[in-house]
Amino acid sequence: MTSIKKQKTVKHANRKAILNVLRNSGEISVAGLSNEVNLSKQTLMKIMNYYIKNGMVIITGKGNSTEEGGKKPNIYKFNKNGGYAIGMIISANRLFSVITDLKSNILDKVSVTLEADEEFESVLKKIIDSYNYLTKNPEIKKERITGLAIGAYGITNFFKGEVIFSPHFPSWGKNLALKEKISEKIPEDIPVIVDNHSRFQVFSEKILGLAKDKNSVVAIQAGKGLVAGVIIENEIRRGNHSLIGEIGHMIIDPEGREICSCGGRGCFEAMVSTSRILRMAEEKYNDYPDSIIFKDNGPDSVNIYDVFDASNKGDKLALELMDDVISWFGIGISNIILMYDPQVMIIQGIFTKAGKYFLENLRKKINKISLFSIERKTEIKYSELGDTAGALGAASYVLSKCFE
Ligand SMILES: [Zn+2]
Repeated sequence: MTSIKKQKTVKHANRKAILNVLRNSGEISVAGLSNEVNLSKQTLMKIMNYYIKNGMVIITGKGNSTEEGGKKPNIYKFNKNGGYAIGMIISANRLFSVITDLKSNILDKVSVTLEADEEFESVLKKIIDSYNYLTKNPEIKKERITGLAIGAYGITNFFKGEVIFSPHFPSWGKNLALKEKISEKIPEDIPVIVDNHSRFQVFSEKILGLAKDKNSVVAIQAGKGLVAGVIIENEIRRGNHSLIGEIGHMIIDPEGREICSCGGRGCFEAMVSTSRILRMAEEKYNDYPDSIIFKDNGPDSVNIYDVFDASNKGDKLALELMDDVISWFGIGISNIILMYDPQVMIIQGIFTKAGKYFLENLRKKINKISLFSIERKTEIKYSELGDTAGALGAASYVLSKCFE
C-alpha cells in the first residue's frame, strides 16, 4: 500500500470509529470522545468539523469548563436527520418501500400492488414512483439521501446488481440489470444496491432484531417460497452463484410424492408449504369431521391460521398436520444448523403466527435429530420484526455501507 493510500485508509477508519461512537451515544464532548477512541484532540476536532459540515453531527450546547479559565467545550450530537436511506422489497404481489433516518427509524412507507408476472417496465415505473413519493417531502434534503437498496425474490447477483431469475416474474427473463435500470431514472449520485430479499431480512435481525448481539445468524422466511438469509462472523454470505440461502430446494424427501415448483421431488419448500398442509387437511376430513378447523368453513376452505390456532388448543387433526410439518422443518433446519452452526436461527414469515405448539415441538425435534451429544446452544426463535423487516433491513444495509 502506498503511504498516501495508507493515510487515507487511516483517516477513513478514524472517521468511521468516531461516527459510530456518536451514533451510539447521546451527547458527547471531545474529551468524552477521546476516552472512547485513541486520537488527539486536534484530530478529533478536525473530524467533528468535517461531520458538522456535511450535516451528520450538530452542536447542541456547551459543557462545563474543565480547566481554570479554559473555554467551555462544545457538546456534540449525532444528527439522525443528517441523512436518509431507502429500502424496497419486490415480493410476488407487492412493492413495499420505506425511507428511514440515519438511526433506521421509518419516516414514511408506501405499498403498491403488483400483478402476477407484471411486466418489468411497469414494475420499474412503480419503483420510481415510490422513490419519488418517499423523497417528495421538502424537509428531506435530496443531497442527504445516502442510497437505495432493493431486495428481490429469486436469484440475484449482488455484485452486478442483476436479477438472474425471478420465479414470480418469469417474463423478466434472465439477468435483468435492475440496478442499472433504476440508476438511469433517479439522481445519478444515489448508490443503488440489489440483492435477494432474504439477505436484507437477515440483516434486519442483526441490526434491529433478535440477533443484535450475535455474529452468526440464519433467518428463514417461510411463506410462498422458502429461503434463508445467512450471516456468519458478521458477514452476509452469498456464495459463488448467489445460491447460499436457496434452502427451499434442498431435497429432503426424494422418494415422496411432492413435486416442487422447480420441478424437483421432495424439496424442503414443497414439504413445508402451507398449501400442502391445507391439502392434507381436506384429505383427512372423513377421518376427523369434528375437527375445529372445519367448524367455520367446512373442508373446502380451511384456513392456515385456523390450523395453527387449533394445534394450540390440542385439536387432534391440527396436531397431526403440525407434527408432519414440524418433522420436515426439523430435518431441514437440522441440516442448516450442521452447515452453518449459527448462534441463533430466526423464523420469519407466516410460521411466526403458528404459536407455542409449533415452536416448542420444533425445538424438541431438532435436538433429537442432530446427532452429536456435545452441548449446543443454537436458539430457535420467532422474529419480532413483522412484515417491514425486509425493507427496513435494506435501508439499514445502505446505512451500514455509509458508515463503513
Ligand atoms: Zn424445488
